[in-house]
Amino acid sequence: MNIVDPDIERYAHDHTRQRPPLLDELREVTYAGVPDPQMQVGRVEGALLKLLASLAGARRALEIGTFTGYSALCIAEALPDDGELITCDRDPDVTRIARSFFDRSEHGHKIRIALGDALASVRALPEDPPFDLVFIDADKERYVDYYEAVVPRLRSGGLLLADNTLWSGRVLDPRADSDRALVAFNARVTADPRVENVLLTVRDGLMLARKR
Ligand code: SAH
Ligand code: CA
Repeated sequence: MNIVDPDIERYAHDHTRQRPPLLDELREVTYAGVPDPQMQVGRVEGALLKLLASLAGARRALEIGTFTGYSALCIAEALPDDGELITCDRDPDVTRIARSFFDRSEHGHKIRIALGDALASVRALPEDPPFDLVFIDADKERYVDYYEAVVPRLRSGGLLLADNTLWSGRVLDPRADSDRALVAFNARVTADPRVENVLLTVRDGLMLARKR
């Protein structure tokens, strides 16, 4: 199921400001030689991530699921020069591409890659200083685990974002483990008194939750 009509998606893309040329190049490199390139957030969601990070006044951010670094670069753009984004991924091949693009970006010095299992990386982080923004976008089966690990590390008023939370509509008829995991995640966030949330029908679904 397309969450958004493809013609409308294209129109939204065409009416979202062109990203820096480096991001277009990263898109081309990813689509030319990396398996599952469609995992990359793309122009509309990338621009939204940057805008939300700006609105949240984020200085310290955490990403779970770097891939080739597109969303990381979008978030890093919004951080102040002395801000920091820690981004977690276990795949050395994709993070090598990510690092090569971070090195070419004027925002790359803000980004630190935590290579290895993301849940272990997050649990190893102290609760203080807390994060202003967290973007969850790795293995769907563990979204609830990431959520529970991340909420104590989010400052009051901080923003948590989770991608693919409509999962091409499969949340309506869950069959696979990943489908059920996203259903459980969305239910968990919605029932959690620690946050206020909204599930946006942007692209493949983007959950927004603000910690009280
Ligand atoms: N946010 C990225 C896309 C992330 S794709 C972008 O917009 O470009 C999901 C990523 O999660 C993949 O790169 C995969 O290697 C990583 N991943 C999956 N399971 C993981 C785990 N258990 N620990 C760390 N990274 C994991
Ligand atoms: Ca995603």
